Amino acid sequence: MKHSMIRVWNELDIETVKRHLLIAGELTANCENCQHLGIDFAKERACPQCRTEFRYICFRTKSNKGEEFSAIRRLKEKRPDMIIVDYEDIKHASGKSKVHGLFDK
Ligand SMILES: [Zn+2]
Repeated sequence: MKHSMIRVWNELDIETVKRHLLIAGELTANCENCQHLGIDFAKERACPQCRTEFRYICFRTKSNKGEEFSAIRRLKEKRPDMIIVDYEDIKHASGKSKVHGLFDK
């Protein structure tokens, strides 16, 4: 059996996703619910500040696809419990006029 990375599209409630979303950078992640910074996304199952449970994670846009795929592959090994969502999809679903916090940058 050969496992490959294949993206699956789902219909999700954007408010629910954002409440349980981690936005990952290179080394640490931010809680989208309370904007708490510096979360270790390889370990933390809930936000140390607002206590929300993390169920979804997305990566800030990477410059190249190969880099993004390898970051996701590494994350999958560490956090099989997390659902990986696409950052662009989150931004789009949030609506440009209602975008707050990290999405402003
Ligand atoms: Zn939080």
